[in-house]
Amino acid sequence: MIHGKTLAAWQRSHPLIRDLIALKESSWFNPAIAPVTHALTDVGLTAQDVQAASARLRRFAPYLKTVFPDTAATNGIIESPIAPLDHVRKILMQENALEHVGALWLKADSELPISGSIKARGGIHEVLKHAEDLALDAGLIRLTDDYSKLASDEARQFFSQYTIAVGSTGNLGLSIGIMSAKLGFKVSVHMSADARQWKKDKLRANGVNVVEHLSDYSVAVEQGREQASQDPRCYFVDDENSPDLFLGYAVAAERLAAQFQQAGIIVNADHPLFVYLPCGVGGGPGGVAFGLKLAFGDAVHCLFAEPTHSPCMLLGVYTGLHDKISVQDIGIDNITAADGLAVGRPSGFVGKAMQRLIDGYYTVTDEELYRWLVIAYEQDGVKLEPSALAGVPGMARVLGSPKYVQDMGFTPTQLQNATHLVWGTGGSMVPGNEFQAYLDKGRKP
Ligand SMILES: *Cc1c(COP(=O)(O)O)cnc(C)c1O
Repeated sequence: MIHGKTLAAWQRSHPLIRDLIALKESSWFNPAIAPVTHALTDVGLTAQDVQAASARLRRFAPYLKTVFPDTAATNGIIESPIAPLDHVRKILMQENALEHVGALWLKADSELPISGSIKARGGIHEVLKHAEDLALDAGLIRLTDDYSKLASDEARQFFSQYTIAVGSTGNLGLSIGIMSAKLGFKVSVHMSADARQWKKDKLRANGVNVVEHLSDYSVAVEQGREQASQDPRCYFVDDENSPDLFLGYAVAAERLAAQFQQAGIIVNADHPLFVYLPCGVGGGPGGVAFGLKLAFGDAVHCLFAEPTHSPCMLLGVYTGLHDKISVQDIGIDNITAADGLAVGRPSGFVGKAMQRLIDGYYTVTDEELYRWLVIAYEQDGVKLEPSALAGVPGMARVLGSPKYVQDMGFTPTQLQNATHLVWGTGGSMVPGNEFQAYLDKGRKP
């Protein structure tokens, strides 16, 4: 029984569940999508909150520039480039017989400094916020100071009295671990069984306490939460429920708007923007989508992409049960090569906050992720980890869904003027031998 109904009854009331259980690639377009004027207030956070996060990241820029030389080029601002995906676009058009589709771009969060994934946005913001709160309280800094003084031994000594804990499938652990250790915090990262060995090795090399769990993400998070609750000096980064993570991700949008302007990419009602966001627990894509809706309003259309083996957000939003249902409840195993997306139960906060702001959700097989990994690397020269390819088929899903196109009232001219953006959520730090193994898998017929 799932919330008073048998699985068979759920399948009758929500027929798409059958396809999810059969691990068939599926798309679901959200019948509750609403204009930003109605739906933005669902979120419970505001443009001012995003601006405050953005200002915080600017305050820390001099510090980040000091301690992470790879942020020097951007003056301590952690940002990634955009790049056209012309060959991927052509292949998508050929395979799906698409015409007049507009442009296809990549947001290369794979290239983000410090931890090489989208988690360098939310994760690092939350650690910096906690550090700032502690340092302000203790009189170690003032808001108007040059924060590079936090690179001092005195500051590191101060932070070493405190612990930070987090549960992760890998990339959040990398971001939280590297950033926390750099500031001087003690840090424990609870890794799920999916976490790649190289991510654990890298963390240990940075002085992070890595706790390995044989179970999946939800259990790793639970254990981290449990550890933190026993120590008043331990701060738990709650990936399932954290506004500070969410706001760190949301800052991406104002930066993207500036990049688009520079590249001459127009976004407005006549030039719609479609953004395809790989989704695990939902904080990353949810936060980015919130920022995008603030920046571009109803001209942006966000879609979440998940592995066929881990469609937790689709299932949670589609059934309306959010975090009260897991993919395991309907017999799906949550085992996928997309380790960043290997989450069986979605964030309750994100699913509810964003339920009228996300146009749709779709699933992708692991085989497709590997296939696109090879194409993106060989044809467009971008190095992405499996999770980060989930956005690639999005354009074909949107344009191959006449009912969605019609319901949204898109005209052929609007579609021709559209920009499609694949959020490439990670990959630059994957070691060479590991990446070669990904390529081998993707090349195997
Ligand atoms: C974490 C992650 C995501 C998804 O973010 P969530 O906040 O878990 O939804 C997507 N891609 C990669 C590579 C990730 O590490």
